[in-house]
Amino acid sequence: MIDEKLKSVYHDIVSRNPAQQEFHQATREVLESLGPVVAKHPEYLHAKVIQMLAEPERQIIFRVPWADDQGQVHINRGFRIEFNSALGPFKGGLRFHPSVNLGIVKFLGFEQVFKNALTGLPIGGGKGGSDFDPKGRSDAEVMRFCQSFMTELYRHLGEYTDVPAGDIGVGTREIGYLFGQYKRITNRYESAVITGKSTEWGGSQVRTEATGYGAVFFAKEMLEAQNGSIEGKRCIVSGSGNVAIYAIEKLHQLGAIVVACSDSDGFIHDPAGIDLDLLKQVKSVERQRLTTYAERRGGVTHHPAGSVWSIPAEVVFPCATQNELSGRDAASLAKNGCIAVVEGANMPCTAAAIDVFRENGILFGPAKAANAGGVATSALEMQQNASRDSWEFHYTEDRLAKIMSNIHDTCLSTADEFGRPGDYVTGANVAGFKRVAAAMMAFGLV
Ligand code: GLU
Repeated sequence: MIDEKLKSVYHDIVSRNPAQQEFHQATREVLESLGPVVAKHPEYLHAKVIQMLAEPERQIIFRVPWADDQGQVHINRGFRIEFNSALGPFKGGLRFHPSVNLGIVKFLGFEQVFKNALTGLPIGGGKGGSDFDPKGRSDAEVMRFCQSFMTELYRHLGEYTDVPAGDIGVGTREIGYLFGQYKRITNRYESAVITGKSTEWGGSQVRTEATGYGAVFFAKEMLEAQNGSIEGKRCIVSGSGNVAIYAIEKLHQLGAIVVACSDSDGFIHDPAGIDLDLLKQVKSVERQRLTTYAERRGGVTHHPAGSVWSIPAEVVFPCATQNELSGRDAASLAKNGCIAVVEGANMPCTAAAIDVFRENGILFGPAKAANAGGVATSALEMQQNASRDSWEFHYTEDRLAKIMSNIHDTCLSTADEFGRPGDYVTGANVAGFKRVAAAMMAFGLV
């Protein structure tokens, strides 16, 4: 429920941003957490800091023309939402996927502001992308698209201004083409203008693994706070992209067993535990579908229809995309003995699903906290670039683990302080909000 004092704020957001359902959903969830905060700190209402936060500082929408290998012309749309720079340069990934539109990029940018604040590192929030679909495109086509995209975007970027990275559909290959074009146009080797770079040219160790590893570190903290353990737990990790693969890797390292994952053609059930080497070969090297994984490995069933959430598991990690886990999925998880849900993707659980978790006492780690490991390690990449240094894997992984543990503890103590003990959603929203709001109030009306 949104507090009476904040209802008009929400209504304004909806009426000023029509047809942006995901943005409404993301802002609504934050406003539901802020009731106890404005009761304690009416100065936030007076300064209209929440309204300021819901309005991006700058929104860039541009045309991205490119030609495919047959010489056919395509026109895509590019976005960069520079949401909030109170704590540092705009920071957040680029998503290349046909579903990308203004509402999606705005919800992602809004979430990013709070997530980045929670890391405790000096990064503002932004997000961008395009409705370009890299699936089935040749390397040369992806290169031409990335060059066209950057030819327009470069003027808005800079290590002190706006620092993109990857997201769905944007990995090391795309980051290479984007950085290469930026370097060429500006005639500057400005490493910290983009993160998620290859470790061969300015990237950080652990950045590739960071979002998945971070989500598992967060789950470990959540379970240990209840005197439980991740070891021996049966898990589902939805998706099979970068976040999912490294969540599975860390779960296996910690002695958990992952029995299912998915892609846009369905899901696989592998009761013996997913063969990670085969999964990496199929998804990351060959860029094939999970049907190929099922063909090559015995004892696995592939399900083109139905829901990956129908499989019994104790701890589950939605790591695919927004709103992939519905209220009905949540009910089926509850019935099958699920004890914890930890978001690796951005906003993968619907509001109805989160209600079901609350009603059933299922621990819930929201994305703003649980998947902050990716962007936190991006900030570590920026630190290394700024000092022209590169850190070792274990040192960087320890830094990530410490950041995740701090975020976890901050969420719990903030939830306690604002009268909702154990509620990580309130903890993440309020702690992130307070940090950004303090800086915004200090800067005045800018
Ligand atoms: N796209 C990732 C996220 O959702 C990472 C962003 C970044 O590293 O800047 O947080």
